[in-house]
Amino acid sequence: MENNSQNQNMKCPKCGKEMVIKKQDISHDSKNNKQYNRTVYWCEQDDVWGNIEIPKKA
Ligand SMILES: [Zn+2]
Repeated sequence: MENNSQNQNMKCPKCGKEMVIKKQDISHDSKNNKQYNRTVYWCEQDDVWGNIEIPKKA
């Protein structure tokens, strides 16, 4: 089974270092009634923010 899409690491687009996870929560899309695991990433030295949303498995 491929597991790469579940990789929880994110590299900073500016410096290429691994970003810090600042927040993890659940978001809800009312259009398709799906839930997503949302992870918010942050790079300390560049103050760059990133956001990844992965659909929750039913
Ligand atoms: Zn950076």
